Amino acid sequence: MLIKTLLNKTYPVKGFVYGKISLEDETIIVEVHERKNSKAKCSCCHQQRPTYDHMKERLFKFVPLWGIHVAFVYRPRRVECPKDGVKVEHMPWADGKSSVCKPFKLFLAHWAKLLSWKEVSVQFKVSWLNVFESVKHVVDYGLEHRDLDNIKAIGIDEIQYRKGHKYLTLVYQIDGHCRRLLFVGKDRSVKTLLRFFYRFGKERTENLEAICSDLWKAYLKVIKHKAKNVVHILDRFHVMKYLNDAVDKTRRQETAQLKQDGYEPILEKSKYCWLKNKCNQNIFQLARLKDLLHYNLRTVRCYLHKEDFQQFWNYKTRWGAERFFKAWSTRAMRSKLPELKKAVKSLRKHQKLLLNYFSFKERLSNGIVEGLNLKAKLTMRKSYGFKRFETIEIALFHTLGHLPEPMMTHRFY
Ligand SMILES: [Zn+2]
Repeated sequence: MLIKTLLNKTYPVKGFVYGKISLEDETIIVEVHERKNSKAKCSCCHQQRPTYDHMKERLFKFVPLWGIHVAFVYRPRRVECPKDGVKVEHMPWADGKSSVCKPFKLFLAHWAKLLSWKEVSVQFKVSWLNVFESVKHVVDYGLEHRDLDNIKAIGIDEIQYRKGHKYLTLVYQIDGHCRRLLFVGKDRSVKTLLRFFYRFGKERTENLEAICSDLWKAYLKVIKHKAKNVVHILDRFHVMKYLNDAVDKTRRQETAQLKQDGYEPILEKSKYCWLKNKCNQNIFQLARLKDLLHYNLRTVRCYLHKEDFQQFWNYKTRWGAERFFKAWSTRAMRSKLPELKKAVKSLRKHQKLLLNYFSFKERLSNGIVEGLNLKAKLTMRKSYGFKRFETIEIALFHTLGHLPEPMMTHRFY
């Protein structure tokens, strides 16, 4: 009896009443009946229609109570709709053929933000598919109801999602007050980014003030074409990644060279000594780095140029930064390090984008793109085993989209 009171209080369903409640096979079974003289609604057009017949009983999983499964049992009516024909009625607690009640979907989706989907399915004894369906339900609702107006700054980033150079293009909002994922696209081609701008719309694009991206050609091309009047910035995270790549390539080449020439393989397994920020390194990596810096190696020189460049970001003015960049790039071009020179050449080519950073410095706090990139990578790792693009897209929107959630009378979590 008390359970019925609780249900009526937390989840009243218009046009339906809760009936007998019993315990069967460790599941609390709640009978649901149509309210007397109530008319069923067509599931297609949501209009009240005369009943045609009754179907077989169906079970709908509800939020568990004290670790005990709860399920609604109901015999859906079929209605005769002049517009849609004979259709199953609309049941407000579930959509379509789903056997999971909406509150339970919200409940599972909430936990899927904190745990991996696999863990959620084990914890609440539902199938992986039920978890997927729940997250999808919440994400679909969120995407339909999100507000995309007044976005001033966006960041474009790419992320590897499968071995063999399979990439996703991610677009984030990176305004100070709101940072969230706006778009996930397969690949990192011109078409991918065009799709974003197409969906985002012309008016919203014209309202943008800044776009951050890396030097990927396809992105540069689309931004130039689609957002001519928006300030395009080469963001800090991507520039440093670019220089880090030069260090890493130099290290790999030199490692092979040393091996070939019969020297001690001192560079082996030193990758992260060179790439990580000093403050993120553990004491072993720091000691190793200190030791390696004594050698006259190409990797060391390349690393020092990269570290030298860090000062660039501290400049207060654009002209100061420009002067520094000129001096630094001249030194780097004389370094006889082919990989570094290659990177510097393209930075020089896009010097304007690089210096645009200083027009927006105050408003783009450091590490936004980096933070979002890290979170996206973490989500991908947590959803390890997701193969389909759609699943990854849903998982990313779920954790990074800041999506609005459906309203409920009561929060079950
Ligand atoms: Zn209808």
